[in-house]
Amino acid sequence: MGLLSWIFGRRDPPNCVAGSAQPTARGMMHCGKCGEIVITPPSNEYPPGSRWLCHQCATRRVNSAALLAELYEEVSHFIQDRMGVDISLWLPPEAVLVKSANTLVPREQRILLGKAKYTENHIPILGRRWISNVEVYILRELDYLQAGSVLAHEMFHVYSAANGLNLDHVTEEGTANLWGYLFLRHHPGIESDRHREELLKSMDPVYGAGFRKARDNYKKCTGFQEYLSLL
Ligand SMILES: [Zn+2]
Ligand SMILES: [Zn+2]
Repeated sequence: MGLLSWIFGRRDPPNCVAGSAQPTARGMMHCGKCGEIVITPPSNEYPPGSRWLCHQCATRRVNSAALLAELYEEVSHFIQDRMGVDISLWLPPEAVLVKSANTLVPREQRILLGKAKYTENHIPILGRRWISNVEVYILRELDYLQAGSVLAHEMFHVYSAANGLNLDHVTEEGTANLWGYLFLRHHPGIESDRHREELLKSMDPVYGAGFRKARDNYKKCTGFQEYLSLL
């Protein structure tokens, strides 16, 4: 989805302990990771089971194998719960890697934020097809929430290829951005609002308009599988 110039101040990583998102008082929530109070953004509705993230947890830089593993867990559980997709069937945690900007080939003037790589195999007579050599790259040093959104986006490409969905380019990227958007929505907070706002307002005909069309269609459905069945 390499397009958006999200820039954040650099912070030291917090000492995170497990916590759950519990409302304390109206407009005040605890971070689902470290338990700190989260200043809630002015926007209103969030889906049940949302996991709030404080500024520090949302903006930790994903630059270590440990944090990448944590991110994989979080995103793949989200994909399982919300989309009904077990992404680990095609993308094991060790196939997700962080890469520096100069190894993610720039496309147009953009530095890619992420990339899904795989080989498509096909045996014509048997009609069998599958993908192999699957890897996903995430740009090094993205903040946790944005990296999660990028990972969800790339996971959709893996799912789409593995299942031979054969979507047109706009639908493919729009739906991938839908996964990224829904991941952000599941993790409310000021940073989540900002990232989602960027997606909702993007002028890009594919990543913006394609995403909004995917979102409109998804909102009419009871779930992701219904959305797919109507494409
Ligand atoms: Zn994409
Ligand atoms: Zn936190």
